[in-house]
Amino acid sequence: MNPELSQLISLQDVDVEIKRINAEIESLPAKRNELESQFAAENKEFLDVKQQLDEALTQKRRLEGEIEAEQQMLEKFKADQMKATNEREYSTSVREIDTAKKTISGLETEVLKLMEQVEKLDAHVKERSPEIESKRVEMEKQLNEYETLAKADAEKLTSLFAERTPLLETLSSETRSTYDRMSKIKSGLALSEARDYKCLACRMTIRPQVFNDIRRGETLITCENCGRILFFRG
Ligand SMILES: [Zn+2]
Repeated sequence: MNPELSQLISLQDVDVEIKRINAEIESLPAKRNELESQFAAENKEFLDVKQQLDEALTQKRRLEGEIEAEQQMLEKFKADQMKATNEREYSTSVREIDTAKKTISGLETEVLKLMEQVEKLDAHVKERSPEIESKRVEMEKQLNEYETLAKADAEKLTSLFAERTPLLETLSSETRSTYDRMSKIKSGLALSEARDYKCLACRMTIRPQVFNDIRRGETLITCENCGRILFFRG
């Protein structure tokens, strides 16, 4: 066989594989998104409750912080009261103590309400959690598989390009430009297999004499109809 023809066949095999891998890599982010949004949609109720619980807990911590600050103020007002040297100072601290106590009591009521809410939400979350978590593990396993696939694909691409360069370099510049041109026009398939007196890419019938020449593979023959370089697989 013409050495250029066998190089071209290898080159096209490499290019077809590069194209397949690139398509696979490009499809991964959408697959990832789909998986994540499917999880979010299927578990919306649970995730909403979980969010409400998180918010209630944050709110509770904030109120507890306020109570602590208010209690420190109360201690200070009490100390002021002890140190009061006249009626005016004394009655001021009495008023401040009273206000602080009311504020603390109001905050404590809010905390109690929140604790009831937290208890209910927490019970719901705990009940459903094992089931949802196992679904989440399942999803993350799948996401990891995509990640592994993406890495393997990147490695494959590197080695395919390493294979491609010497194949391309040994072609004559004329053959190389034919291949490049046809590859662009025919979306990556510059070559077509000839079988049963037909071009498999465009189904055009090949005359017996031409078919025999293709079978011998001594020269580069292009399809009269689609222009692809024809080859015969023995
Ligand atoms: Zn053809």
